[in-house]
Amino acid sequence: MDRRVADILIKGGRVIDPSQDLDRVTDVAIRRGRIESLARVGKGAMANFGAVINANGKVVCPGLLDMHVHLREPGYEHKETVLTGCRAAAAGGFTGVACMPNTNPPIDDAATVKMILEKANEAKFSVWPIAAVSPGREGKALTEMAELVETGAIGFSDDGSPIHDSHLMRTALEYSRMLGVPIIDHAEDHSLTVLGSMHEGKASAILGVRGMPCIAEDVIVARDILIAEYTGGHLHIAHLSTATSLDLVRQAKKRGVHVTCEVTPHHLTLTDQDVRASGLDPNWKMSPPLRSADDVKALRKGLKDGTIDFIASDHAPHHLDDKDTTFEDAAFGIVGLETTLGVILTELVAPGVVDLPTAIALMSTRAAETFSLPVGTLKRGSAADITVFDPEAEWTVEPGDFRSKSVNTPWAGRTLKGRATDVVVQGRLYRK
Ligand SMILES: [Zn+2]
Repeated sequence: MDRRVADILIKGGRVIDPSQDLDRVTDVAIRRGRIESLARVGKGAMANFGAVINANGKVVCPGLLDMHVHLREPGYEHKETVLTGCRAAAAGGFTGVACMPNTNPPIDDAATVKMILEKANEAKFSVWPIAAVSPGREGKALTEMAELVETGAIGFSDDGSPIHDSHLMRTALEYSRMLGVPIIDHAEDHSLTVLGSMHEGKASAILGVRGMPCIAEDVIVARDILIAEYTGGHLHIAHLSTATSLDLVRQAKKRGVHVTCEVTPHHLTLTDQDVRASGLDPNWKMSPPLRSADDVKALRKGLKDGTIDFIASDHAPHHLDDKDTTFEDAAFGIVGLETTLGVILTELVAPGVVDLPTAIALMSTRAAETFSLPVGTLKRGSAADITVFDPEAEWTVEPGDFRSKSVNTPWAGRTLKGRATDVVVQGRLYRK
């Protein structure tokens, strides 16, 4: 990968920046890693730039962020590493990712946070670690949250597992309020999902597959909203997937509760009927599972009315050994870094579910705002994190071409329209 720190000119693109309500064709000038101007640059001045990107017909926007990614390091380097995950992210048009702590050992101490940050630094990419709420993700006590935030953790989650203990959730949210970072909830009551492998509904009944009902998510979301309301902490619901959970978040926001949520591209575009149509292909198995068409409809409404704060892929790489088995025995999760942009543009923007500036806000500006990160903007003087994509580029998803180490995707063979061509990360140009 070609990395250069230089003065860069991005010429003639449609510049969309939701942070300043901007949508016009112009140039973006970057000097010493910062955004210098959003205005036409004359031919004479072009020689002053080390690199010129011709963005004619392309969209130029604040760098896309994926705030829910499993980089699998340490412990599962055969599935993904910080380096391969960063390369996959850049290929997918992202300029930064947040990584989840369900590694082995988990990201539950300062040394592991530091290790992740060092690897990200070597990859010349932005990775924001999310640390575990409890040591070993065992749900028994709290990690050294203040020290972890000081080291660079931007939030806490036992993702993969919920926090079953209400008292632990209460104290975590109390610390969250003091530290100004969110507690990120994998909302799943395990007692309701034991041995389940797909959404509980008509399709699971026909297939005879043990289901995972919506209430497994809804009861945890309801409880944790109440605890967030009581403590004043910031609760963030990861991969929200049900109509009821969405409505709980909507009502809580109206009451002024500090609750935010994310949804995945797959929960916005695929249903349990697709799982059936796939013939129970393990690449259609994830947690939470693909829900009903009514849930998808409700989530799409939540994108429009602002209840959903941002889109995140829940990139969950798995080795073939974990997926090359029966649906019931296969691991949960799919990769997402290299398909998210194309899926959102093809399935949501092209049919008019959301307009392009809203889609960009959901993949960048609003994700940055949720975590109070100084990215997601093209305002003058800000660090240059920029995505350039071609909204007309048609391409077919070939998992064999992924930069990710893993290929578990339900979109293999699908033709998508829209693909990243260049990303600028911390002022450096990553060329594909
Ligand atoms: Zn999760």
